[in-house]
Amino acid sequence: MASSTATRDLDAVVIGAGFAGLYMNYRLRETLGMTTQVYEAGDGVGGTWYWNRYPGARCDSESYMYCFSFDEQLMQEWEWSGKYPEQPEILRYLNHVADRFDLRRNIQFNTRVTAAHFDERGNRWEIETDQGDRVTAKFLVTAIGCLSSGQIPDIPGRDAFRGESYHTGAWPHDGVDFTGKRVGVIGTGSSGVQSIPVIAKQAQHLHVFQRTAQYTIPARHGTVDKAFLDEVKKDYDAIYEKARWSTGGLPYAPVERSALAVSDEERLRVYEDAWQQGGFKFLFASFFDIGIDRRANDTASEFIRSKIREIVKDPEVAEKLVPVDHPFASKRPLIDTNYFDTYNRDNVTLVDIRHAPIQEITPTGIRTEDGHYELDIIVFATGFDAMTGTFNRIDIQGRDGARLRDKWAGGPLTYLGLASAGFPNLFMITGPGSPSVLSNMPVSIEQHVEWVSGAIEHLRSQGLDVMEAEERAEQEWVAHVNEVAEQTMFMLADSWYLGANIPGKPRVFMPYPGGVGAYREKCNEVTEAGYEGFTLRGAEVPVTG
Ligand code: NAP
Repeated sequence: MASSTATRDLDAVVIGAGFAGLYMNYRLRETLGMTTQVYEAGDGVGGTWYWNRYPGARCDSESYMYCFSFDEQLMQEWEWSGKYPEQPEILRYLNHVADRFDLRRNIQFNTRVTAAHFDERGNRWEIETDQGDRVTAKFLVTAIGCLSSGQIPDIPGRDAFRGESYHTGAWPHDGVDFTGKRVGVIGTGSSGVQSIPVIAKQAQHLHVFQRTAQYTIPARHGTVDKAFLDEVKKDYDAIYEKARWSTGGLPYAPVERSALAVSDEERLRVYEDAWQQGGFKFLFASFFDIGIDRRANDTASEFIRSKIREIVKDPEVAEKLVPVDHPFASKRPLIDTNYFDTYNRDNVTLVDIRHAPIQEITPTGIRTEDGHYELDIIVFATGFDAMTGTFNRIDIQGRDGARLRDKWAGGPLTYLGLASAGFPNLFMITGPGSPSVLSNMPVSIEQHVEWVSGAIEHLRSQGLDVMEAEERAEQEWVAHVNEVAEQTMFMLADSWYLGANIPGKPRVFMPYPGGVGAYREKCNEVTEAGYEGFTLRGAEVPVTG
């Protein structure tokens, strides 16, 4: 990439206009007064919530916590209608944020960044897009989301299907009419579990192709409790502050009781109560050791299995829905509305593709080892090339022309999930190695955006140009992430956290499982120690942090 052809020189380029990109834009432009360009692939803001418009799409964090906290008035004025925010409402919220802070004026939509190369002579990033833009920027910030590269498995005959087919993460904006249609859904992760009950109500017949049975907890979704929300707003700052120092970015009081230290009756009572409350409270507000002790976890897993057998009327179908090959919360915990009940409907059939795998997609349906299923529509709820997929789609080259995708061929290597050695002035919002997907995302996003703007401000105030993670700090951080992950249930399932859903992807645990509070503390320590683990330099003089 030749710098001489660059058309505009900027202070910063941000990739993406979801939660992360919008706030990063605000901080760079409004707080730091920098010339900033945001590139966004969609034709509107929203990121994940722009693309994932499948029926039933909603967030599993309660709405009062699934929002920004950086502006007091914004927090007070926005009124959520659902206990959990539904996709259209979150998208309205993000559009409101974009309008309120006039954030669209430096966002270029329908534009993908294709390449970003670091030019060491001028310490600038040279950036290219698929629309022919060529710009340079001192700082490059990726706000590309963790789940933004959809994955449709390479099933033989995939392109031969003559009906309609959709991936949940690239849903048509005007919706899909399932009325009178024979529908097949492949996949029973969050997207499948949310969409299956809604599609079942409309379709003539729904076949669910399940490879792995799932634990899922009822959301107990409904309209927002207005009195509760009014109370929250009186004390919003303190509630949000609690979330910032929690494990999962939610303001639930930490529980100290062990599932192994109570009587069987007491344990059942706690689980039943947590099941009735629903949502993530089942995990966070029952017993502290479900996620870290296999025997404690067994009690939770067994409780959920008993619920599945209770809800699903046909015992054979119930047994197929009972997860036996991984513990609860070793994959992303699921929250549902009427998921298991859906299998009591006459127009729903569960197809077990663990024991009779899909052989091919035919022009008229799906063939498994057990038979052929005639379909009009196939929905791929088959997930994403998580955390690294979108990085790999951009030709990112750092010092000496080194490619990020080559460096990460054995798994992502970052310092704090914020930066990678050899890639100066490249900052990642919720990158691999940070709590990100294991947390309530807005809390993690705000922390990252504020850390990055603080780092840039520091460079500026010291008259320095460049900040780069040190290899040693990066190695120690990656080792720490792995060490913490080894103590959790996460290593006991084939999940996208480990890259296990993508053939050939290295099996490496990608997010940081130590909790957002511990992580925030570490980031603060790094800052207070003069950006320890980063090298800061001016045009000529290196300063080791
Ligand atoms: P996912 O969790 O990766 O689930 C993909 C599903 O497709 C799994 O059931 C998987 O089976 C199946 N699958 C994948 N490849 C297959 C193949 N070749 N043949 C048959 N089945 C196959 O993807 P997702 O449901 O889209 O969710 C991804 C993440 O996005 C979630 O974990 C969550 O973090 C986020 N999300 C959040 C929300 C929310 O907040 N409510 C909603 C949607 C998504 P196996 O389990 O056997 O691999």
